[in-house]
Amino acid sequence: MNPGCDATVQFHDDLGDDPCTFHCALPAGHMGDHEETGQVNGETYRVTWQGTPTTEDQIEFALREYLAKRASIGRAAELAGLSVQEIIEQVVKRGIEPHWDEQVIREALGE
Ligand SMILES: [Zn+2]
Repeated sequence: MNPGCDATVQFHDDLGDDPCTFHCALPAGHMGDHEETGQVNGETYRVTWQGTPTTEDQIEFALREYLAKRASIGRAAELAGLSVQEIIEQVVKRGIEPHWDEQVIREALGE
């Protein structure tokens, strides 16, 4: 939509069924946090989010989504920037009880 920074961030409500995506409106290559400002129902909002989440942050987020069953293992891997094999290693390493199902197996096998 704009030639600037194309970073986005997504928020979900508690039920995970109402995702909302914010798009950074700052110029490409800007320093610091990403930012979107706009208006909803006449109210000005300003959303900022951390520029470069660490891999660890991404993994934590991805595993939370996975545990809440909002993300499949394949989607969690994508969120964490890891391969399916690597995210499975993280699941095992953290002692998380995986909820394997047929879908997971298909994804692990590359669909
Ligand atoms: Zn940005």
